[in-house]
Amino acid sequence: MTFRTILDFGGALALAGALGAQPLPASGQRVHRLLIHNATVVDGNGTPAAGPKDILIENNLIADVIPLDPVAVARGGNAGTAQADAVIDATGKYVLPGLINAHAHLQEERGGRPQPIEYELDIWLACGITTVRDVGSDTRRALELRRQSAEGEIAAPRIFVYPMLGRVRTTEEARARVRSLKEMGADGVKLLGIDRDLMGATEDEAHKLGLRVAHHVGVEETNAWDDIRFGTTSIEHWYGIPDAAIESGVQNFPSSYNYNNETDRFRYAGHLWREANPERLTKVLQAMVDHNVAWDPTLDIYEASRDLQRAQTQPWFAEYLHPTLAEYFKPNPANHGSYFIGWTSTDEQFWKENYRIWMDALRQFDRLGGLIGMGDDAGFIYQLYGFGLIRGMELHQEAGFHPIKIIQQATGNNARILGQEQHLGRVRAGFAADLIVVNGNPLENLKVLYPTGVDEIRGGKVVHTGGVEWTIKDGIPYHAPTLMARVKAMVAEARVGKR
Ligand SMILES: [Zn+2]
Repeated sequence: MTFRTILDFGGALALAGALGAQPLPASGQRVHRLLIHNATVVDGNGTPAAGPKDILIENNLIADVIPLDPVAVARGGNAGTAQADAVIDATGKYVLPGLINAHAHLQEERGGRPQPIEYELDIWLACGITTVRDVGSDTRRALELRRQSAEGEIAAPRIFVYPMLGRVRTTEEARARVRSLKEMGADGVKLLGIDRDLMGATEDEAHKLGLRVAHHVGVEETNAWDDIRFGTTSIEHWYGIPDAAIESGVQNFPSSYNYNNETDRFRYAGHLWREANPERLTKVLQAMVDHNVAWDPTLDIYEASRDLQRAQTQPWFAEYLHPTLAEYFKPNPANHGSYFIGWTSTDEQFWKENYRIWMDALRQFDRLGGLIGMGDDAGFIYQLYGFGLIRGMELHQEAGFHPIKIIQQATGNNARILGQEQHLGRVRAGFAADLIVVNGNPLENLKVLYPTGVDEIRGGKVVHTGGVEWTIKDGIPYHAPTLMARVKAMVAEARVGKR
């Protein structure tokens, strides 16, 4: 035992002794020194669970992570000076870095109907999300929410703003747009459906100004080879990767195919991975690794395509689906992603195969050393904010990743995609105090992260458990069940208002 650990041990004893006298924090109110006591910790760097540990938060930073000798903890009761202003007892609970949602959209309306921003922000926090990367919304509003969140004025995750580049016609226009986004204070830029010369100019200008680039590759002139060449930070979703591996260079679309018909688009997207040549695909994935192009696959957002009924009947819709969003999800050719009129079992079968090949490609990318992040793109296609990210984690498990790695993808890896790996995504002294306290072991069951919890059999009895208990963002503790009660009331009110 080193001198340092002896000191830590003494400190831990003092803290353990002080526990009984300390109050719980109040939801949404920062305390100067907050202690999370006796936690099992899963860090965001791919290392296994370890504990018990005490985590001391001072203001908005993790001041210390103190390993506790289990014998000393069992002794308890030893007198010590009060070291914290409030204590969260994490006995039997797991503490993780706050989850990062790398593909989110701030939404205050759907299909032209209003939806309160607090609805989305509260669910995000209740799902353990302490950071979101907004990849396209009302930019000025997003920047204002980013500021309010940073200053602790609103209950919200940290926000990184990557505005959509929007329609540009010339390389000069593209460069000017990037400069104006930089002037507005954007953290990055989001590309969608862009020609090669415009993409090259945009990325060149973005790199000069230190802006990161997220690319939702459409079925378009560019594909993953362009992301590799121009230095895209992250490919969003998956299009562009199999496209770059098709031998003939073009997918075998039927003659009636129209890209602007969303049913066509999503139907034949389900035939895309099967057309990728495996050897070519390996070359694409290797080149992405070599050129530091990360992959944020958003596995959850296409799930309705492979199982429509599952998507339409998710249990949390009963109490937590805002009527505005419910209306938007209904099949309607006027709304993006609401393409399900005439969706068939044959479509689902193609999509199930599509997922299998996609998941294999993700595992291969990981084996080659690629950086995989995670985002949910919720607010479209039956995915509810936050719940979609947790569903995404389940789908990463289906893809074959170990839960330790999945937590890393949703925390430390996403922090790297944001360029924030020195500050976010870890349970480590000096890092931002963005942490979640979970009722249950997410390494055993990722479903414990859903704020609606899970039922377990204990001693022959059904016990309702799970859910994130506390989400601590920038040192401010939020009690997740309290947030969800607020969301439930918001939804109930909106439903009555509709009648
Ligand atoms: Zn999106």
